[in-house]
Amino acid sequence: MASNCISSVKELITCSICHKCFDDPRILPCSHIYCRKCMEQIASANEDQFECPAHDGTLVTKNNVNTLPVHQIMLKLIQLYDSMQSLKQCTNCDYAIAKYACNRCENERFCSKCYQGVHMLRIMQKHQQIPIHDRSSITTSCETHPDEKFRFWCRKCNAVICLHCILFQHKDHDYVLMKEVAEETEIKIHNELKSIQKSLDSRINRVHVLTTEVDNDMDSNIKMVKETMSSLRHMIDDREKTMIQEIIDIETKQKKQIENCKTPLGNQLQCLNLRKAMLDMLLITKDHTKLLKAKEEFDNYLEKTNETLQSLQIPTRIIYHSQGLNQLQQFQEEILQHGQYVERNNPELEKLMKDTGTSDTLYVQNKHLSYQDMKVVADVLRKTPALTHLYLIQNEIGDQGMKDLADALMKNKTLTNLFVQQNRISPEAQQQARETLQMNTKLTVHW
Ligand SMILES: [Zn+2]
Ligand SMILES: [Zn+2]
Ligand SMILES: [Zn+2]
Ligand SMILES: [Zn+2]
Ligand SMILES: [Zn+2]
Ligand SMILES: [Zn+2]
Repeated sequence: MASNCISSVKELITCSICHKCFDDPRILPCSHIYCRKCMEQIASANEDQFECPAHDGTLVTKNNVNTLPVHQIMLKLIQLYDSMQSLKQCTNCDYAIAKYACNRCENERFCSKCYQGVHMLRIMQKHQQIPIHDRSSITTSCETHPDEKFRFWCRKCNAVICLHCILFQHKDHDYVLMKEVAEETEIKIHNELKSIQKSLDSRINRVHVLTTEVDNDMDSNIKMVKETMSSLRHMIDDREKTMIQEIIDIETKQKKQIENCKTPLGNQLQCLNLRKAMLDMLLITKDHTKLLKAKEEFDNYLEKTNETLQSLQIPTRIIYHSQGLNQLQQFQEEILQHGQYVERNNPELEKLMKDTGTSDTLYVQNKHLSYQDMKVVADVLRKTPALTHLYLIQNEIGDQGMKDLADALMKNKTLTNLFVQQNRISPEAQQQARETLQMNTKLTVHW
């Protein structure tokens, strides 16, 4: 046995809590294995229940530790490991590591010192030393004939037998050399384990590929949403700036135009104030001569000013408004409605359906089928006249999906068994489907 194999076995039989070989290995619902003692220790430190030490959320009730199932395969593996370890020791001193076997001293293993010690006698000199790795397989004595070793395999009784067994108890039975059957069995089990490994590997790989695909899809879809929204945001920000600038430009211009009247008006006000002051002075002095002399000047002023005021029109104020702003508000609603993340297709289902061809049974179990997928299924039902058994167990067809399916099957004459267990179909929808399928007497639906 290769040493890396031994170390991996050692790892397998080591408890992750006490780091020793499992002592009474118990298996938790989450498939983790620990020593019973280790579980009891954790249980005693907790109230009613405790979590699996691997922190996977599995809860164990304190009083249930003793009822946790014993891991039988683990026990067997530990026994095999122990017996293999003992094979390493010298059978003479039971202490040193065995290095040699002997062609005559069957089932014995010796360290260098013991080999020499045991074979000192002259009659033992003919024994031949064999390095331990070249030693042939271990032979066991027959229980019925202790003087004989098991060497054969009775094909009729499926049992190991000895030479005497062949002559008596297993007389006339078909037998072969034990070695041959053992080698055959070894290869057979090895190959079968290998094929299971292959099938598991391919599934694990498939899970890995699928999760990676989901991750990639998630990332790329998030990226697309971000890009779209970001460009939308930029566009909106730019539009906002442009709109505000437009308002500022137009209104500033208008304000300026209106304000342009301020200077001439101010000038006129100044002139008026001067004239008013003049009049005040004249009234205070009560000098009528001066007042009358100034009259002409006042008349000129009045005439000129009235003329000026007439031409000095204040511009009309124009009222602007942001056209279509309320329409932009409608876009808010639209943005909320658009860009929803919805199911696009189920490539696995489509492939399965395509591969169905002329077979009579189709298994589409646990494939996350929704009511939307039932259209594809209905299509296949039309195109696959040979189909008699359709398994849709453990999906998410729901009431709508069942309705579509029943509609599609109303006139179908070939399908005899439809399996739709575990699909969240309400009793009402079941009843409705039964009514739809009343005329289709050949079909049995398994709810
Ligand atoms: Zn332990
Ligand atoms: Zn666990
Ligand atoms: Zn020894
Ligand atoms: Zn010997
Ligand atoms: Zn026998
Ligand atoms: Zn037999």
